[in-house]
Amino acid sequence: MLKRKTDRSQALFEEARTYIPGGVNSPARAFQAVGTHPRFIERADAQFIYDVDGNSYIDYIGSWGPMILGNNHPDVLKTVQDTIVNGLSFGAATEREVTMAKLVCQMSPCFDMVRMVNSGTEATMSALRAARGYTGKSKIIKFEGCYHGHSDGLLVKAGSALIAEGGTPDSAGVTANCAKDTLTARYNDLDSVEKLFEDYKGDIAAVIVEPVAANMGVVLPQNGFLEGLRAICDQHQAVLIFDEVITGFRLAPGGAQELYGVIPDMAAFGKIIGGGMPVGAYGGRREIMECVAPVGKVYQAGTLSGNPVAMAAGIAQLTRLKEDPTVYQHINALGDLLYGGLIDIIETAKAECTVNHVGSLGTLFFTGGPVTDYDSAKKSNLKGYADYFLHMLDGGHYFAPAQFEAMFISYAHTEADIKSTLEEAARFFGV
Ligand code: PMP
Repeated sequence: MLKRKTDRSQALFEEARTYIPGGVNSPARAFQAVGTHPRFIERADAQFIYDVDGNSYIDYIGSWGPMILGNNHPDVLKTVQDTIVNGLSFGAATEREVTMAKLVCQMSPCFDMVRMVNSGTEATMSALRAARGYTGKSKIIKFEGCYHGHSDGLLVKAGSALIAEGGTPDSAGVTANCAKDTLTARYNDLDSVEKLFEDYKGDIAAVIVEPVAANMGVVLPQNGFLEGLRAICDQHQAVLIFDEVITGFRLAPGGAQELYGVIPDMAAFGKIIGGGMPVGAYGGRREIMECVAPVGKVYQAGTLSGNPVAMAAGIAQLTRLKEDPTVYQHINALGDLLYGGLIDIIETAKAECTVNHVGSLGTLFFTGGPVTDYDSAKKSNLKGYADYFLHMLDGGHYFAPAQFEAMFISYAHTEADIKSTLEEAARFFGV
């Protein structure tokens, strides 16, 4: 029996379902996997998020990653306020786009050049098109349980809300022809990648991977996995693409590439790069990026790409991340506290659970583990996660409403927040 009043959210959800499929504009927000209705959000500030019934929660979703400095960060808010008075969109070149491009090329080890887009989906889709244009080859390899957005060719054995929907590997509406050039390998299994390169010799344009998988829950690359992908791609002249939509600017200023010291040919960004505005970016080696129009023959465009308000928000957030190492010290220390604390709790409770984490990113799986790939993640007890989620939500701790997602800690969280979350978790596990 939940303690909190949620009448207004419930009423809005009823109405929303009449006009919006499932009442939400993105399936991961539906709360379907945890058997309740979404909490409709009114506002968010710092580490807190507030719903329309007047409940406040410590926010561990952070808009699914973008809000690394915390909600409503004053630097980001101020620049957005200053920028909007000059017009919301010009569809023309601006100085801010040059500032943004220079900034991300300085921060991201693999970027010589970058193109801004409006979402992570566009970023990965466009990176793959550029890789195919550059190599002249057609097939790509992705990993089971990795999610790269909802473009047709990438909805094959994808993660995130697709796993929660019962493991349907493909979406209806994606033709077999679209899916046939997408080959899937097992995460952390280099042999499965090598086999595909053998079977499709000379046909593979690119390997795309989440360098830390976060859409089957957080699954870390085992020692040598990313290095092995680098070597295999070099051997077969395929483009290695890191999808850093979640890891980018979070695990380090230079993302997972910096943390693990493996430099891909291309990378895709989203989320943090826009400071909460709808932004994505893809980029990489100059010779690949110079295949993109209007220099080269790979077409890719966007009416709102490089939007001035979005660029302003992103530049403010990235500049802070580039210049202030205390952000990473803080979120990583809180990550150790939260995930370390959860590990202690599940050990004490002798619960069949596993915690995977790196820095501020982590997942509590309801399976004994180890969780190293899609198959081991799928062993999770979803009812167990749902019960835990509902307990935490009712206690004021806002986590992802599905097992196969990550938790996000921001610069605005405090030790006291983490301690209160751990106390609530301990109550759930009865220790
Ligand atoms: N790649 C990864 C790794 C993601 O986690 C996501 C979204 N969660 C995407 C791509 C797609 O980004 P968007 O939702 O902005 O289209």
